Amino acid sequence: MRVYNFSAGPAVLPEEVLKEAADEMLDYNGTGMSVMEMSHRSKAFDDIIKTAEQDIRDLMNIPDNYKVLFLQGGASQQFAAVPMNLMKNKKAAYIITGQWAKKAFQEAKLYGEAIKVASSEDKTFSYIPDCSDLDIPDDVDYVYICENNTIYGTKFKTLPNTKGHLLVADVSSCFLSEPVDVTKYGVIYGGVQKNVGPAGLVIAIIREDLITDDVLPGTPTMLKWKTQADNDSLYNTPNCYSIYICGKVFKWLKKMGGLEAMKALNEKKAKILYDFLDQSKLFKATVRPEDRSLMNVPFVTGNEELDAKFVKEAKANGFENLKGHRTVGGMRASIYNAMPIEGVEKLVEFMKKFEAENG
Ligand SMILES: *Cc1c(COP(=O)(O)O)cnc(C)c1O
Repeated sequence: MRVYNFSAGPAVLPEEVLKEAADEMLDYNGTGMSVMEMSHRSKAFDDIIKTAEQDIRDLMNIPDNYKVLFLQGGASQQFAAVPMNLMKNKKAAYIITGQWAKKAFQEAKLYGEAIKVASSEDKTFSYIPDCSDLDIPDDVDYVYICENNTIYGTKFKTLPNTKGHLLVADVSSCFLSEPVDVTKYGVIYGGVQKNVGPAGLVIAIIREDLITDDVLPGTPTMLKWKTQADNDSLYNTPNCYSIYICGKVFKWLKKMGGLEAMKALNEKKAKILYDFLDQSKLFKATVRPEDRSLMNVPFVTGNEELDAKFVKEAKANGFENLKGHRTVGGMRASIYNAMPIEGVEKLVEFMKKFEAENG
């Protein structure tokens, strides 16, 4: 039996995609082998990666002057790759809205001067700071954000005013959840295991002029974007299976109506949960309304024992992985693209029942 899986990542995938992959497990498309068993230089895999690239380009409306790279090392590896490839002046501005932004900031400090230009740490990252008029030094190489904060459940609803500087965004937990204007960014990257596919793959969308040989001395060959771009993400063996599953998710997203349709559906799903939380006497959302993520919804009862009881009873009723991150406590429901609306409706029903019994 399938459960409703509210995990923050690795996370729920579309059932249709998993079934297709199961059907193709022993014999992919008449090749007589699994995608896991074939050469990354084979014709079959070449079709898989090229189709995947075209489909994500269509979905996100990615302009021709941006490269799409399929890389390994997770989003965390890009915390280092970003400064290595972009820090020409050895200076960058970071907006700290949670642990992932902080980790990226700390990593950047290994390579140059990383400057914290805004932070929401004073209130446990429960909001997005005003970024309309930040004090950004003229000579920074880029401004960095984590666009959706997986742990704290906040999302930038408007992008920061970078004062003309390059914007770099980690979109791991909001990847493909709504349309984006790619031209507003220099670099967009995300680990796919939150909203797209199996762990171990990061997709980086990088403006072509930023992909150069002018990287920090000592940059490993593998971390130089140019190495990867010159080899169409096949410099070495990529994460073939994850690319294949992501390709299927891209097809599924197209069939669902693309990112406009996903945004409408995600808004509808999130509203069901937030509306309930805002009128509940027992449960409270932890993020201020204007900054709430459509993907990750943290909430608390204010009583740790009751939180633990809720998580336990929810699990017994088929709602998995609702325990909040250890730094926030309470609960977190991650309701990514592949979470069906019924999952959210049934969770809210269950929460009402729990409230009636424990309020
Ligand atoms: C999960 C996550 C990461 C880390 O991803 P890895 O692929 O495990 O390195 C980075 N940023 C955000 C926003 C995340 O949600």
